[in-house]
Amino acid sequence: MTTPRRLLARLRVIMARGAAPLGDLVDVVAAEMTAEVCSVYAMRPGDLLELAATCGLNPDAIGRTRLRVGEGIVGLCAATGTVMNLPDAQNHPAFAYRPETGEEPYASLVAVPLRRASRTVGVLTVQNRSPRNYDADEVEALETVAMLLAEVLATSGASDGAEEGVASTLPRVFTGKTLAPGIVIGPVVLHGPRFKARRLLAEDPEAELDRLHEAADRMQRRLDELFAARMPDGDAPREVLAAYRLIAADTGWLRRVGGMIQGGLSAEAAVQRVTGELRDRMRRIGDPYLRERLSDLEDLAGRLLSELDGNSADSPVVPGAILLARRLGPAELLDWHARGIAGVMIEEGSPAGHAAIMARALGLPTLGGARGAVDAADPEDEAVLDADESQLILRPESDVKDVYLRALEARIALQAGWAVLRDKPAVTKDGQGVRLMLNVGLNLELDQLDITGAEGIGLFRTEIAMLARGAIADTAEQAAIYARVLDAAGNRPVLFRTLDLGGDKLLPGAAVPEEENPAMGWRSLRIGLDRPVLLRRQMRALLLAAGGRPLQVMFPMVATVAEFRAARALLEAEAKRVRPAPERLSIGTMLEVPALMWQLPALLREVDFISVGSNDLLQFLFAADRGNPALSGRYDLLSAPVLDLFEQLLVAARMARVPVSLCGEAASRPIEALVLVGLGFPTLSMPAPGILPVKAILAELDLAEFRHVLASVRRNAAGEPSLREAIAAWARERELPL
Ligand code: PEP
Ligand code: MG
Repeated sequence: MTTPRRLLARLRVIMARGAAPLGDLVDVVAAEMTAEVCSVYAMRPGDLLELAATCGLNPDAIGRTRLRVGEGIVGLCAATGTVMNLPDAQNHPAFAYRPETGEEPYASLVAVPLRRASRTVGVLTVQNRSPRNYDADEVEALETVAMLLAEVLATSGASDGAEEGVASTLPRVFTGKTLAPGIVIGPVVLHGPRFKARRLLAEDPEAELDRLHEAADRMQRRLDELFAARMPDGDAPREVLAAYRLIAADTGWLRRVGGMIQGGLSAEAAVQRVTGELRDRMRRIGDPYLRERLSDLEDLAGRLLSELDGNSADSPVVPGAILLARRLGPAELLDWHARGIAGVMIEEGSPAGHAAIMARALGLPTLGGARGAVDAADPEDEAVLDADESQLILRPESDVKDVYLRALEARIALQAGWAVLRDKPAVTKDGQGVRLMLNVGLNLELDQLDITGAEGIGLFRTEIAMLARGAIADTAEQAAIYARVLDAAGNRPVLFRTLDLGGDKLLPGAAVPEEENPAMGWRSLRIGLDRPVLLRRQMRALLLAAGGRPLQVMFPMVATVAEFRAARALLEAEAKRVRPAPERLSIGTMLEVPALMWQLPALLREVDFISVGSNDLLQFLFAADRGNPALSGRYDLLSAPVLDLFEQLLVAARMARVPVSLCGEAASRPIEALVLVGLGFPTLSMPAPGILPVKAILAELDLAEFRHVLASVRRNAAGEPSLREAIAAWARERELPL
């Protein structure tokens, strides 16, 4: 029979000498437990448990014997995270025989998981020849040893090191529940154990108990101060405070900590042990209320540890960051709020939880339940927290991030005083109406239709929703997305663009061949025509979403009339199969590849409309990567070649009676918008933040006068790389709101 205290005392002596070899530790445990065998299995990459040290089994098996997580009793212990105490292990159904270990003679076995920061990093086993049940004290002693060994494995680098593993760069999307609405874009901060016990074992239990009680008193005082200083108004937060105080004042868990200290642990290690136990117990309870109390308890334990460590004050500020937490207590939320976080995701957070109540009172956008996000995130990562749509997007694609940035900018622009223009039509001072439409990529932008007063959606980038969810949705899901767009638009027109994937818009895990020049590579409609199943699935979804309403679809990156014809044929074939058929089906193309300009006569006979994608058109026209900031100032849309091209297009399209619009980002910049309207574009489609400023400048514009000015600037600027300054000078003179 062992005395746990003597075991811990011996371990303390060994560990005080510095980094203790695992072999020495297992020898001591075997001796003190009067066990014939004590072994440690360490977690290796690929979820393998490898025999890392043993006293009693064949030493040649070290580094050779491996079990998958879930395989054998050791694997089962790791998979379930629970202690296995078996008098007759060899007859257990999970037993996996490994001849190289020489373990035939041993009947009884205890396996204890080695856990660190909620991860299993290995397994400790003890075996005896005689069939025996290890008693509760022995198992408890082994659990304490397991805690030490987990630290030893982690600090010696003997475990798989997955915590420090290679950072992922792929976007990840997590769905959860909205606990408090709002959108935030920012760096992530991880809420984790702020603290690691430096000293696990202590010599003088009385002194440790004194430390514990002093720290608990300090914690109580600090909590009172925190709540007094930062408590948001309202009844609910007050109820939270009352409930929280009750838990803080409950001496049950502190008594249990005291008991562990009496057993030889340091105060810090005892707090961690008790919290770990509670965590395991509560996790097995499904009741959401009790699980919420676990967050409160962990919050308190974290505070107590900080007090014991004397570091409760040194919290860095993290302005604008998104906090990711597995669990979060209300006091922790208040602390983080004081440090400047702008949004929160709590994996185990529920609407009725204390942290959620606090978050609502503080107006912090908060998402609950996005499981796996904490493990997937690295401290350097950026994220979009879209608590309105219940999503967290980790490492967002730049296109997805841009959409969110624009949505936020639009909200700000509106607050900045343009709102009066919302319900006014877009007309020039001399009465020429212009249709201003929205570029939209996610459903969250749909409210911009009403907010900006746009006349419809001139570009719905269907791939953005797929990028945001990390995969191409099936037909029904896609149809639901598109139907929501049409519902939100009501009588306003919507131009759907088919998937424009490839180039820089890659889905995670997509098997795409390496390309030297992805922007000019296998992308967009080219993929659609080579993989017609995908394209037809999307077309079907669009037709289903329309459900008899008018439908407008356009194709991106069309380079030849033949490509357009092929895509159109696919859509028309699908349209014959879907009922109800759309009241009107308009099929158009984007003009992004310059070659189309020399196919205009044929093209205009086959398309119902054209929308100029000036972002891509300019990059191909000037052979200048649109994503390269070093080139961004080098070529200008407001230059003779581009304006000549637009003019030729407008003239040809007018004669063929084909409507033309422009939907690149340029349309949202007031001076560009002036010129485009001056050239004769009747419709401009742009990101939401542009609508009201463009409306404002058009309202001040004498179009007839400007057309003369534009013509003369174009005549006089032959050979100039840009006409921008001449036009801007005129606009400033006219005091237009640039
Ligand atoms: C464009 O190229 O101008 C366009 C609108 O498409 P995207 O920016 O999505 O490539
Ligand atoms: Mg494009």
